[in-house]
Amino acid sequence: MAKKQFKSESKRLLDLMINSIYTHKEIFLREIISNASDAIDKLCFIALTDDKLGLNRSDFKITIKPDKESRTLTITDNGIGMDKNDLENNLGTIASSGSYKFKQDMNDKNDDIDIIGQFGVGFYSAFMVAKKITVNTKKYGCEEAYCWQSSGADGYTIKEIDKADIGTEIIIELKDNTDDENYDEFLEEYKIKSLIKKYSDYIRYPIKMDVTHNRVTEETKDSDNPQYEDYTETETLNSMIPLWQRRKQDVTQEEYDKFYTDTFMSMDKPLRTIVTSVEGVVTYKALMFIPSTTPYDYYTKEYKKGLKLYSSGVLITDNCEELVPEHFRFVKGIVDTADLSLNISREMLQHDRRLLTIAQNIDKKIKNELSSMLKSDRENYEKFFKAFGSQLKFGVVSDYGIHKDELKDLLMFYSSSEKKLVTLSEYVSRMKDDQKFIYYATGDSIAYIDALPQTELLHSKGFEILYCTEKSDEFTLQTLMQYDEKKFCSASNDDLGIENEENKEEVENSDALLNFVKETLGDKVSEVAASKKLVSHPVCLTAKGGISFEMEKYFATVQPDAGLKAQRVLELNLSHPAVKAMKALIETDIEKAKKYAEVLYSQALLIAGLPIENPSEYTDLVCSLMAT
Ligand code: ADP
Repeated sequence: MAKKQFKSESKRLLDLMINSIYTHKEIFLREIISNASDAIDKLCFIALTDDKLGLNRSDFKITIKPDKESRTLTITDNGIGMDKNDLENNLGTIASSGSYKFKQDMNDKNDDIDIIGQFGVGFYSAFMVAKKITVNTKKYGCEEAYCWQSSGADGYTIKEIDKADIGTEIIIELKDNTDDENYDEFLEEYKIKSLIKKYSDYIRYPIKMDVTHNRVTEETKDSDNPQYEDYTETETLNSMIPLWQRRKQDVTQEEYDKFYTDTFMSMDKPLRTIVTSVEGVVTYKALMFIPSTTPYDYYTKEYKKGLKLYSSGVLITDNCEELVPEHFRFVKGIVDTADLSLNISREMLQHDRRLLTIAQNIDKKIKNELSSMLKSDRENYEKFFKAFGSQLKFGVVSDYGIHKDELKDLLMFYSSSEKKLVTLSEYVSRMKDDQKFIYYATGDSIAYIDALPQTELLHSKGFEILYCTEKSDEFTLQTLMQYDEKKFCSASNDDLGIENEENKEEVENSDALLNFVKETLGDKVSEVAASKKLVSHPVCLTAKGGISFEMEKYFATVQPDAGLKAQRVLELNLSHPAVKAMKALIETDIEKAKKYAEVLYSQALLIAGLPIENPSEYTDLVCSLMAT
């Protein structure tokens, strides 16, 4: 019989697959079983409408039969089967679906062999372990049955055979063992059992195998010298019921963890598992996970948010974005609802009211889970917040702040007094009687903010300060505007709402000095003021109006042309010796006094983390003062 050639692209792939030193050869079984299950799905669907078929759902099954003598593994299903055309089209070429995607990706990454395991590579993967594959099959509605045979890349044959039952039988004749590879392993019952558990546990039809056990013979049961015998029993190897359909109390955390790491390709266990079952306007079950670390691609467009959506255990879509809100986009999981039809299109899904209701419930559920973790499992919550806190803050700011009330109690900031992350409600509960505002200070690091002169008075008064070390922090607080009716106030604001009685007199008699400095600096500052908040430092810059220095820095990087600048107020500490010296010089050496004003202004810029307009002029100035 003439051999037919595989289509050229199939041949290339086949070569690659067979000859690759691929470590996960075992996935072939998952692929074959999944094809069998798909084939049964198709016939099962027909059985619903065709009484003549005489099959019930419970009649469908997949059987595995290892045979050590002939070194074959036979996988049989009573699914829809294939006719001659199907065999040509489906097994003669890599036509569509997963395999096609694989081929395209393969073209991009020519020699990246490892990619094989990442797609449903399907039927062909069996050639990783097989030297010959025989497919005996009879399609539903057809009289003829066929045998397809191939030994790999050199092609395949198809011939007509006699076969009574509808369905497909795939006989895999294993490759010879080599020094590195023991293919016989795939004939061992324990190996097959463990592969089914690992990859095919939720296949909805029973996967059956005759399993050999050992027992004491009936005759020797009561004797002192018991004899043993082997006996076989047909066992169902898969649990069939998906994890999320089982009751929470019947599933161990290890099982959930394993499901998570297997399904979502994660190296780490989840930080939290959320199981929910809802009956009502819409009925659904959800199994969700909060990851313990930020996925490596989380901040790239490769990362896809969404939950897997099933309808009664059958996957509708791998990534239903609508099910999770943007601010919880790190949550992974699945939702299973019988209320949606399998054939629902993506466009319809987006507008489906039931889906919207589920999404709203899920949003609430995740929020509650995080709140309870914050209350009862602080250590893990902080771990979570370090991984995904930025996402929550971003959630407050985005969509014009409509989610801020939902998210505000989940936020954490580093506290100056507690030296750790605290919540806003904890801050407010510690506020002093005379404290008007929730204070915060911005800067790149905790050490930097600790040393800011602006925070001196707040520190000395014992007011707690929240440290904003991330770019988005200040925007987050400004979007919140207030918490528990307490407004937020930046340590760099000109008015901290604190009366400092100590230098009141000096402040009142400082007009001449302030005018002098303002005239000297001109437009560089919008105001010069006597500071009420400095204690040991001579100067600081504070911002007036809506734009803070941190925002100025942010806009300088994202919109450099907009020229958005904070209004600079130079605050002078009138009690400081350097400022006093400048004041004295106005009477005796006004030129030198002007130089002092320039130097102090530049120092204030430096402390605020803003660039000095002309660094060499500044160093010349300092040197000229040192030389006098
Ligand atoms: P995929 O499953 O990704 O479509 P495969 O290479 O695994 O690709 O299979 C190709 C096609 O062959 C399947 O889509 C299906 O139409 C057919 N097929 C494979 N195995 C069976 C089977 N056991 N019964 C019926 N059809 C099958």
